[in-house]
Amino acid sequence: MECVLGHNNIKEELFNDIPMYCCISCRLVWRQTFDVPIARYEDKEIRVYETKINDRLANSLDRIKTIRKYVDLNNICDIGSGEGAFLNALAQFGYTNSVGIEPSNKSVEFAVEHGLCMENGTIEDVARVVAKYNLHTFTMFHLIEHLPNPLVAVQKLFNIMQQKDKLVIETPNFDSYVFHRVNYKHNLICSEHLFYFNENNLQLLLEKVGFSVVVHGKRDFYGLNSSIRTFLFKLRFGKMSGHRNANDANNVKLYFTNESNFKRKDSINIYANLINVFKKSVRLVLRKLVHLLGREDYMWFVVQKL
Ligand SMILES: [Zn+2]
Repeated sequence: MECVLGHNNIKEELFNDIPMYCCISCRLVWRQTFDVPIARYEDKEIRVYETKINDRLANSLDRIKTIRKYVDLNNICDIGSGEGAFLNALAQFGYTNSVGIEPSNKSVEFAVEHGLCMENGTIEDVARVVAKYNLHTFTMFHLIEHLPNPLVAVQKLFNIMQQKDKLVIETPNFDSYVFHRVNYKHNLICSEHLFYFNENNLQLLLEKVGFSVVVHGKRDFYGLNSSIRTFLFKLRFGKMSGHRNANDANNVKLYFTNESNFKRKDSINIYANLINVFKKSVRLVLRKLVHLLGREDYMWFVVQKL
């Protein structure tokens, strides 16, 4: 038996009670059984009442601020777009000609209703979509961990891409501080996530395919909207808690304004504002510390076909 990077020193291990294989050479981890059919993604419903969609949009806006220095964010092919949060964020920043590819019919419908350009399909449809729209930057956010053969998929994408085209990948970091601290009892270790990478083996995979790494880094899903308790947990204090503190969510243009946003607006007074400014300053400092220690949950790579 070999890992997809060609190492043959493999052991079996349980993570979050799921049987996994683990490569002793590169520490790539993957599920022993891939029992998630593509139909699960095609039939996926959108629960529009969920704050999750707003959270994804806030995450996408934050992500753009992180990566825009390194990559042209026009002419993007976003593979595995979900309901189009990243495309929506690109449009809010004024970038043009972004196209998403997504297997869920409901998600595509939702995106098109919100004025986004999205095609129904999977990573197998990239060549068709690229030829149709002339796209040169490729993005795969929270996708590679779902693919049954990430090396083959990324190799196919590399072959479709033109010289100088760039790819941006983001995925959970299996060696993240929180995964270790909760002994892998984490909701990112789940049946839909087939492969678990760290910075080292993801870079190996991308280079094996032929990409050259431009830059890579770490980030968190909730960014500055994480709760103070979450930041403290990452700094070794206290217990794992809910991640989210939506105080800043009303600074961005989101899909939905939920009831709690209205309530917050009604109850705004000078003291509440002062407390919020103070809490935000604390979160800014804590986020800086978490970043300096490299304790974010996700990692991202910008790579180029030279
Ligand atoms: Zn390996």
